Amino acid sequence: MEKLDKKIKVGILGATGSVGQKFVELLLNHPWFEISVLAASERSAGKKYKEATNWIMSTILPEQIGEMVVTNCTPDKLLTEAGEKPELLFSGLDASVAGEIETKLAEAGFKIVSNARNHRFDKYVPLMIPEVNPEHLELIKKQDTSGAIVTNPNCSTIGMVMALKPLHEKFEIETVNVSTMQAISGGGYPGVPGMDILDNVVPYIGSEEEKMETEPLKILGKFSEEGIVETSMNISAQCNRVPVIDGHMECIQIKFKEKPSKEEIINAWKEFKSEPQRMNLPSAPENPVHYFTEERFPQPKTHRNLEKGMAVSVGRLRECSIFDYKFVVLSHNTIRGAAGGTILVAELMKAKELL
Ligand code: NAP
Repeated sequence: MEKLDKKIKVGILGATGSVGQKFVELLLNHPWFEISVLAASERSAGKKYKEATNWIMSTILPEQIGEMVVTNCTPDKLLTEAGEKPELLFSGLDASVAGEIETKLAEAGFKIVSNARNHRFDKYVPLMIPEVNPEHLELIKKQDTSGAIVTNPNCSTIGMVMALKPLHEKFEIETVNVSTMQAISGGGYPGVPGMDILDNVVPYIGSEEEKMETEPLKILGKFSEEGIVETSMNISAQCNRVPVIDGHMECIQIKFKEKPSKEEIINAWKEFKSEPQRMNLPSAPENPVHYFTEERFPQPKTHRNLEKGMAVSVGRLRECSIFDYKFVVLSHNTIRGAAGGTILVAELMKAKELL
């Protein structure tokens, strides 16, 4: 891992929300990035961060961050103490406002890596999972603003695509059927009321099924100068909210063009390494996909924090009487599926000299 003489100054948009707080937590001791601006809505602007946010992370909020004054998400306000633009903005903005705010900031010359859905399908905006499609980052050179927008996929899409990539690359997947059991932190803070989720399962998460059925096609697509040529694959998704705090679990059935053996599938997962691992990026897990042979694994409480929440756990690979195979995937929704995944994208941008 390259050591920097001077850290890169970054800002966080939506810093008071659940993804925003995870950004703060993960960036506190980051070897390359240094938090220099915290921004949120009018409701929070002007307040000290420790007063504007209801800190729900399990680590203690450091005094110097708690004392920082939250600012608005406008180009004139997003400046470091020295009055300069941060070199990069991480966005954990609510999707109802992220689209317009991010467009304006990119036009004003800011580089943004976003968790929000709004720009994911813009022609020249890469939809990134660094281990899956590192070459797609080149798309930002085609954006016609002085800044840039790069996006992170939906949290449940990320876990699934990490497990599908090594298989699609080698054996070509034709059809995927997925049913999810998604954690309540995926709905932001305070999220679903306790009365609705305790002793219960909610069989609906707004727009989630559409995202899981469309985003993988772009992520697994081929880079071209004219944008991404989507891969062809039929995906059907059913998404459920369950009473788990962190960690999305997904039961997946797949059909291949040519059915590989069980051993070939397990080896593809075990051998899977990509640019973040070769470049030794600070947040890259050593093994992006871990396969468990124990029948009861993976489980959210036991495995969501594997490799600091950046690795995906897979288990229960077995023959399927309708498709070819079925298996279970688990990934941490606010780390690999949001803030951690986005930070890894930024590390890849830095390593590829795109910052
Ligand atoms: P959240 O807890 O509701 O936080 C939303 C943030 O947006 C807050 O900081 C809020 O600031 C800010 N905001 C709201 N209205 C604003 C406005 N008009 N101007 C500026 N800032 C405004 O949501 P979240 O769960 O962190 O999710 C953030 C984004 O990440 C969403 O787009 C979500 O879809 C995406 N995402 C979430 C997850 C997850 O697991 N949670 C995973 C992947 C992607 P105030 O506190 O000042 O209102």
